[in-house]
Amino acid sequence: MASLLAAAHAYAQAGIPVLPLHCPTGRGRCSCGRPDCGRAGKHPRWHPRLIPAGLHDASTDPARIDAWWSTWPTANIGLRTGVACDVCDIDTPEGLRAVQHLLGGDLPTVRTGSGGYHVYLAPTGAGNRARLLPGVDWRGAGGYVVAPPSRHASGERYRWIRRPDGPFPACPPELLRLLSPAPVAAPPSRPPATVHHPMEYAAAALRGEESNVRTAPVGARNTTLYHAARSLGRLVGAGLLDPAEVTDVLTHAARAAGLGRAETARTIRSGLTAACRRATGPAAAAWSA
Ligand SMILES: [Zn+2]
Repeated sequence: MASLLAAAHAYAQAGIPVLPLHCPTGRGRCSCGRPDCGRAGKHPRWHPRLIPAGLHDASTDPARIDAWWSTWPTANIGLRTGVACDVCDIDTPEGLRAVQHLLGGDLPTVRTGSGGYHVYLAPTGAGNRARLLPGVDWRGAGGYVVAPPSRHASGERYRWIRRPDGPFPACPPELLRLLSPAPVAAPPSRPPATVHHPMEYAAAALRGEESNVRTAPVGARNTTLYHAARSLGRLVGAGLLDPAEVTDVLTHAARAAGLGRAETARTIRSGLTAACRRATGPAAAAWSA
């Protein structure tokens, strides 16, 4: 199919290494021919001469791409991640909601053949991560994704719902922190037993911001507090932290750093409000459309 070949060339021209995948052949079957294939249309092809090393042979070389798709014209397209892009792989409505709150903005997005979403970002250096958030996996170094216009076993095609219109956007700091949680500089101000969090990294983010605020230099205390509240506000919006707890922890830290009570309350409220505004802006509306 010409459009698969053309798309493979377009990805390669954008610097993304491409590889040919198997394709679904109807009724859940896969071109690999194994009756028990559990990954129909999703795994790399193998050939002793054309693609001996599977994923590691992913290439931007037009001649190799021509050879692959002239041999297998209906091959699905795999894109190696971790080189020119990483992909946030979202399966569930809960995962989508969490990512909406963390990312914002108009990000390049694919609707997958199974009804999930792939959000393309600049490479982070991180490897693959399962369950980065509930219903959200990360495809980074050493991974790959199935790309449009590949066909899913369901019969649906992968399609762009928002195409990239330039370099892939950088991974937002909130998500980078989830991929490699920052080391915790100071012990929490209260015993961990009193802290309940749905996800460990949200707890780490809270501890990290608590420490940032507590140790901020005098001239930067209020700004640090604002950024901490705004950053944690996105995790609140994603349902990963409790707003009352965030307010409580940040208030203790700001007071310990020497900020006044009224100023502390005002700044925290302002940071949390900014996070909410961002999460319910036009980007979030577009996602849910
Ligand atoms: Zn198969």
